[in-house]
Amino acid sequence: MRSVDDLIAEGVSGRRVLLRADLNVPLDKTTREITDDGRIRASLPTLQALRDAGARVIVAAHLGRPKGTPDPQFSLAPVAARLGELLGTEVPLAADVAGDDARAKVEALADGGVLLLENVRFEAAETSKDDAERGELADRFATLADVYVDDAFGAVHRKHASVFDVAQRVPHYAGRLVARELEVLTRLTTDPERPYVVVLGGSKVSDKLAVIEALLPKVDRLLVGGGMCFTFLAAQGHGVGSSLLEVDQVETCRRLLAEADGRIVLPVDVVCADRFGADAETSLTPADAIPDDLMGLDVGPLTVDLFTAELVDARTVFWNGPMGVFEMAPFQAGTRGVAEAVGAVDGLSVVGGGDSAAAVRVLGLDEDAYGHISTGGGASLEYLEGRELPGLAVLAD
Ligand code: ADP
Ligand code: MG
Repeated sequence: MRSVDDLIAEGVSGRRVLLRADLNVPLDKTTREITDDGRIRASLPTLQALRDAGARVIVAAHLGRPKGTPDPQFSLAPVAARLGELLGTEVPLAADVAGDDARAKVEALADGGVLLLENVRFEAAETSKDDAERGELADRFATLADVYVDDAFGAVHRKHASVFDVAQRVPHYAGRLVARELEVLTRLTTDPERPYVVVLGGSKVSDKLAVIEALLPKVDRLLVGGGMCFTFLAAQGHGVGSSLLEVDQVETCRRLLAEADGRIVLPVDVVCADRFGADAETSLTPADAIPDDLMGLDVGPLTVDLFTAELVDARTVFWNGPMGVFEMAPFQAGTRGVAEAVGAVDGLSVVGGGDSAAAVRVLGLDEDAYGHISTGGGASLEYLEGRELPGLAVLAD
């Protein structure tokens, strides 16, 4: 895999570089302001290195999940503004993805200049399952640039036009963020120092069961919190009220618990609410006695103590997924407590996942306490599962 530093050594001055970055930041639902700019900051080293080397940088990125058509709600305008502030230069935003306006603005780019293309998911072809459809968009990307650099680690598990197909059409390089992520993930998959403890939470239960399946033989302990713990609690025969539950996964969870032979550790207490809201009525209940009319929105203090005890002697930790709905104040303590225990580990601690990384920053935790904060949740999980990631495979070609 050639890196952006190889490209810079080759000489990139005056060349048009299409840089796929992961700028998929969370926005406030009402004001559309960026609530955490971590991903934008993480993309700066590669971007700045290219500018310093005199490249004309054309940044491609996605934001949220628009439905394959322009939608002002998902415009990258706030990202262009923030990127400009952080770089100390004007970052114009093309009105389209790879159309007339993009072409005109690329023409106008000066050496060291930066242009942001509009949300690549405004084109249905970006995420299409049809190779020819993606290929047509990738052809248009390819005419915009001389070389391609992929620094969007958070998207390398996607076979998308701006991640996969374009790299087949122009000389391609890995950005610094992608290189760093790979280095850390390799340390987690090749002979990790033990005890190796994985902490999983978040909301995407069925997504993450595959990871549990793959990691279970490799880890010493697996701590499960967040929305996904309720499917496990149900598998143990407990009622979970109106908590997040994936009924069709209960059987799988039962089998995993049996296979784990005590290595899967579940919450012992839960912060429950009468509804999903920051002003809900809350109560603390044992994990095996959640009332029918309540929903679990965070792990309780006894669980934080239990998980902390399981983490204290760990030498390698991977944490993905908040322990609760940390976006709302009454359900933050579980994530905070477990995040602190992960940060206190003497060894390699890796935080993976967009929301988990955002939680570290939003809760004001010390980012330096962690060995690495990954920007890509799905991508790091699929890597740990041992799957081939299309965006990486194409870079290695
Ligand atoms: P990551 O982005 O770190 O991979 P996920 O996207 O899987 O994490 O999950 C993050 C989301 O999970 C957060 O928005 C959080 O509110 C939600 N979540 C955590 N615990 C619960 C719960 N008990 N019930 C519902 N949602 C939860
Ligand atoms: Mg997420």
